[in-house]
Amino acid sequence: MAMAGRRYLLRTFGCQMNEHDSERIAGLLTADGYVATEEAADANVVVFNTCAIRENADNRLYGNLGHLRPLKQANPRMRIVVAGCLAQKDGGTIRERAPWVDVVVGTHALPGLLDLLHRAETEGPQLDVREQTEVFPSALPALREVAHHAWVSIAVGCDNACTFCIVPLVRGPQLSRPIGDVLAEVQGLARRGVVEITLLGQNVNTYGRDLTVPGSARRPLFADLLRAVNEVDGLRRIRFTSPHPHDFTPDVIDAMAGSGKVCEHIHFPLQSGSDRVLKAMQRSYRRERYLGWLERIRAAIPDIAVSTDVIVGFPAETEEDFEDTLDVVRRARFDQAYTFQYSPRPGTRAAEMDGQLDKPEVQERFDRLVALQEAIALERMREQVGSSAEVLIEGLGRKGGARGRTRGNRVVHVGGEHAPGTFLDVRIVGAHPHHLDGELAGGPGGSRSERERASGSPPEQGGPGGSRSERERASGSPPGQREPAAVG
Ligand code: SF4
Repeated sequence: MAMAGRRYLLRTFGCQMNEHDSERIAGLLTADGYVATEEAADANVVVFNTCAIRENADNRLYGNLGHLRPLKQANPRMRIVVAGCLAQKDGGTIRERAPWVDVVVGTHALPGLLDLLHRAETEGPQLDVREQTEVFPSALPALREVAHHAWVSIAVGCDNACTFCIVPLVRGPQLSRPIGDVLAEVQGLARRGVVEITLLGQNVNTYGRDLTVPGSARRPLFADLLRAVNEVDGLRRIRFTSPHPHDFTPDVIDAMAGSGKVCEHIHFPLQSGSDRVLKAMQRSYRRERYLGWLERIRAAIPDIAVSTDVIVGFPAETEEDFEDTLDVVRRARFDQAYTFQYSPRPGTRAAEMDGQLDKPEVQERFDRLVALQEAIALERMREQVGSSAEVLIEGLGRKGGARGRTRGNRVVHVGGEHAPGTFLDVRIVGAHPHHLDGELAGGPGGSRSERERASGSPPEQGGPGGSRSERERASGSPPGQREPAAVG
């Protein structure tokens, strides 16, 4: 039976996969009678859902744990949980360095979180960093930050071995979720008012390779999944992340172009524009092949927006290599690029490579890349001015008004109060590198969404919070695409 008054604080670091897992952590704790708090001093349980991809992730974790130590000393019944990729990677080391941590739960052990917490009460500190997923986190109860959007995991782990990436180590080999399970989840979400989903996998293009369907000679592939999800009633927008340029297939382009709910946006990680660096990264496509895919995607879906990830300063990257990256960025004309300065991650092969670059050199290249990309992003945004767009409202704008996204994943600020989950018809009137200004098409009050028009009632409000602060929620990186990790 639920005990009254128990509270949890959940802090999430890293990529969408962690956002997805945090929805499950919040769901499990809520099912056990906890309510969310933003104050560590009020919390009975504090959970850090960690990321191993970011630079100095472990220093940040130990800094956060250090801040909690006096609270734990004052309140020994407070339980501190470390979950996520660092928990999986470092396991027992975390308890050695921060013995006041009660539970270390790895990426494959999330379903057992409540059990570990209960055992910590009677048996003392718990560690579970098992190496295989037995239950998909998607099968667990979820507490979502907003009612209209959901992350849906289609596969966990990755079979690639990019030399800079820690994911295969902490998430294991790819395990695809049966297509029927994914569909059942999406149908249930749509029945509960979710209008937009993001399908999640480290490499969505290899979805299904590890599945067999009884009675069928053919495995379901990602294109099949897109087409099947497109048929779900009530759903309006389908996004996915991330496809891998090496495993991309023409069938996925056909499925995107032929499925009206699949949004005109693709996150297509480049990582480097130099063939030599791509080889050292063990990314098995080359620059011309990458650009060739972009050309085919744009030919089939002309108004598609493209975002990417780029790493600057990979070991032994020369000025010529970097110029190759700038050249691809110029030719690709990305709408948005998540740019990263390479820094070695312990446990990856790249961390052991010769030719690690000095920080000032990496910074100088990084600044040039950012300047180029900002200029391109602004040009691309300006091309939108004067057009009309359907905007799905996600939350408050920074300077009042509301903030939402187009199907192309472009952030739009619109005046007036609009509840999260509302669809608006908007005319684009201004452009900035990272967002657009919009006005309601047809003047104030003239732009009720199709869903509102059909139902005659306003859309649902956003759901309860629980894992991120109001400030974070208002800051503009909610469901659509929070900063992607340098993966995929
Ligand atoms: S970067 Fe992406 S494809 Fe490469 S190993 Fe990491 S998760 Fe897999």
